[in-house]
Amino acid sequence: MMYNRVIITKDMYMAFYTSYGAAGEVTGSCHLLSIGNINILIDCGMFQGEESELNFEDFGFSPEDIDYLIVTHAHLDHIGRIPLLVKQGFSKKIISTRATFSIAQLMLKNSAGILESKPKQLYTTQDVEPALELFGNFLECDESMYLDEDIKITFKNAGHILGSVSVKIEFTDEEMSKSVVFSGDIGQSERIITAPIEFWDSANYIFVESTYGLSLHEDLDTSVEGFKKQILETIKNGGTVVIPSFALERSQEILFLLKQMSDKGELENTPVFFDSPLAINVTKTFLNYPHLFSDDVKDILKHGINPFDFKELVQTYTPEESIRINSHKGSKIIIAGSGMCEGGRISYHLVRYLENENNLVLFVGYQVNNTLGQKILNSKEKISILNSDINVKAKVSFIPGFSAHADKKELVQWIDKINDIYCVYLIHGDMPQLEALKHTVKTSLDEKAHVVKFGERIHI
Ligand SMILES: [Zn+2]
Repeated sequence: MMYNRVIITKDMYMAFYTSYGAAGEVTGSCHLLSIGNINILIDCGMFQGEESELNFEDFGFSPEDIDYLIVTHAHLDHIGRIPLLVKQGFSKKIISTRATFSIAQLMLKNSAGILESKPKQLYTTQDVEPALELFGNFLECDESMYLDEDIKITFKNAGHILGSVSVKIEFTDEEMSKSVVFSGDIGQSERIITAPIEFWDSANYIFVESTYGLSLHEDLDTSVEGFKKQILETIKNGGTVVIPSFALERSQEILFLLKQMSDKGELENTPVFFDSPLAINVTKTFLNYPHLFSDDVKDILKHGINPFDFKELVQTYTPEESIRINSHKGSKIIIAGSGMCEGGRISYHLVRYLENENNLVLFVGYQVNNTLGQKILNSKEKISILNSDINVKAKVSFIPGFSAHADKKELVQWIDKINDIYCVYLIHGDMPQLEALKHTVKTSLDEKAHVVKFGERIHI
């Protein structure tokens, strides 16, 4: 996709928003708010899946003209292009929570390692360190910071992943007070391990994610029950459970649920192999932020107990340890990445365990079209993995209610709690989801709503 470079002049007085990603699509979050001569970028994420070629195009603005980068959370579709932004001239401050910075370090280094193995390189491991050096302006939930005497930013917990925030930017324009809220990614009202979402009570312009603007999630308790029941059935039949899992938050949620099963004696003699160096490192990092957990997890921590550890857990960090999993005979559980089976150690486990009808491949996250994960979910018989033709005989199942995103009902509730709205701008969603949420906001909430287009410039 080609678009025109926008020249950001320093003498504009009014405020403008311009979209440079996650407009009419889910990935590549990148939003510019220019208030007078101050340019604030909110997120600088990577385009993923079918949109990934867009990563190689011009940002659409000059990175050296950006004064502040605010990062809402550490998912790659919100941080993945930061090394590129820095490489191309951005040298000012990055503002985030401490937890987001800690997790971003792991995610960006891991991502650079993967990018280096591709034929066309976006950036390398050497480009990550200069980007990390610009972090360090930390703001926590319910705290505010002034960017200059007239521009105030405030964070609130977005309830999406550990450290995630929504951000409010307040400023005075021609003696009028204005406020803009960027939702970041908004979590479900009930989470398994992290503290629940906080709501805003007022804002004039809101830019809200719309990933599930059209759909409703399965109730979390039903999903947790289904997860445990299917694991117990497979273990009882002597089978192996393979769980493709995302390293950030989902893996820790899975460990927490398995710990509950272990505490009840349900995993006796069933080792749980945690086979992802990135997920192991993310789990250690999570434990440095105990105040960000849910009350359930805080209660466990209060007793000096690690909520992500139990006697059946075996962490396999090195490739040699990973290979040794194969020599374990009998029932076992294997958690490995990547979550959509697009690389990582999961591929080897799938080749080994998909052909036995006693085994279970349990998907715990959404599978995007054309990924190996989605092909396995839809496959009834043969599938090709690592150049092997595999006859799918294992049970393949999907737990739908673990999503880290709010559904349609929760998005509408989040918007409905905000007073003084002039307009709701819909971003970060596929077109059917965006259009559906726009319709709901207009008809149910009686608010103005607009689906933002890529490159669109909006006067605030
Ligand atoms: Zn996210």
